[in-house]
Amino acid sequence: MQPKLLVEEAYKYFPLRRSLSEILTFKAHRYVRAVDGVSFTINEGEIYCLAGESGCGKTTTGRLIVRLIDFTSGRALYMPKKEVLSEIPPEFLIDGKYVNLASDLPRHVDKLLRRDVQIIFQDPYGSLNPRMRIYDILKEPLDIHGIGSTEDERREAVFRTLEEVKLTPPEEFAERYPHMLSGGQRQRIAVARALILNPSLVVADEPVSMLDVSIRAEILQLMLDLKATRNLTYVFITHDLAVAAYVCNNIAIMYLGKIVEKGPIDVVVNSPQHPYAKALIAAVPEPDPRNRFKMRELPIIGEIPSAANIPPGCRFHPRCPYAMDVCRSEEPPEVEVEKGHKVSCWLYAKR
Ligand code: SF4
Repeated sequence: MQPKLLVEEAYKYFPLRRSLSEILTFKAHRYVRAVDGVSFTINEGEIYCLAGESGCGKTTTGRLIVRLIDFTSGRALYMPKKEVLSEIPPEFLIDGKYVNLASDLPRHVDKLLRRDVQIIFQDPYGSLNPRMRIYDILKEPLDIHGIGSTEDERREAVFRTLEEVKLTPPEEFAERYPHMLSGGQRQRIAVARALILNPSLVVADEPVSMLDVSIRAEILQLMLDLKATRNLTYVFITHDLAVAAYVCNNIAIMYLGKIVEKGPIDVVVNSPQHPYAKALIAAVPEPDPRNRFKMRELPIIGEIPSAANIPPGCRFHPRCPYAMDVCRSEEPPEVEVEKGHKVSCWLYAKR
C-alpha cells in the first residue's frame, strides 16, 4: 500500500477579533490555535480516524484536507487518482504523483482536486438545501464540474448513485425534497452527493453522530460497502471511539490541536498509553454490566482549555493525574512505543 495522504506539520490558526482598546494600545494579535502541528500518513484504501473531544481540531483538519479553508503552514501531500493526476500539469506535482494541498494552486487544479476529495458533513438536516429536489441536489455537482455531456447522462448518473446508496426506486426518491426523507435517508443523500463525482478520498465528518442509534450501523455498513466497491480512502472524524473501533484501520487521538497518540486502531484502543487517550477510552460505555465498574477508572479533571489560551509545556498537564515539573514547561516529543504506535508524553520520552 502506498501513502495516499501525508500531512506534515500542519497548522491552522484563526486570528481573534481585537477590541478597540487592544487596537489602540497596539496589543499583539491573538490566535485560536485550532490545528497546531499535526502530522499523519494515510495509506491508499484505509480508513483513518481522527478522534477527540469537541474543540480538539479534528474537524478543522478535515476541512483543511478538502481545501475548504487554507493552511496557516505545513504540507499535505495528496496522491490523486490516475485520471485526475494525468490532467495536473507536472509543475504542480511532487515526485510525479503528489500535489501539496497546502499550497496555492491554480483554479483548474483546485477544481480537479475538489472533484477527487469530497466531504460528508455531520448534519443531514442542515447540509441539504430544503428548497431543492433530491434530483437537483445530486445533479448540481455534475453541472459545476461539467460531467456528463447530455442531460440524459447526468440523469443516469443521479439514478445510479441513488441506487448505490440503496434509495430505490431512484425515480421516486429523485422527486422528493429533503423534508420528505428520514434522517437516515438524508444521510444517504449526503453520501450520494459526495460520491457522485467519483472521488478517491472522502472526509466523513461525524457522519452518524446525529442519527438514531438504530440506523447508525446501516449507514456505517453502507460506507464500508461503498469503500470496497469504489476503492475509496476515508478520513473518518468522530468523537465516538466505539464507532471508530468498528470501522477504522488506524487512529489519531487529538487534544487541543495536537495528536497525542496514533497507531493501529486495535493497538490504541486495547492498549492506550497517553493519559488522555486512556481516559477517553475508559469512558466508552461498557455494554457488559459485569465490566461496568471498569469505566472511568482514570478520571480526568477539569474542562478542556480554550484553544486561544493553550497551556505551556504539555497542553494536557492541567488535567493530567501524572503531570510532572517538565510537563509544565516543555512540550513532550513524539515517541514510538512500538512499531507504528506513537505517543507524545513525557512518561515515555528520554530527558
Ligand atoms: Fe501527563 Fe506529562 Fe504526559 Fe502530558 S506529558 S500527558 S502532563 S504525563
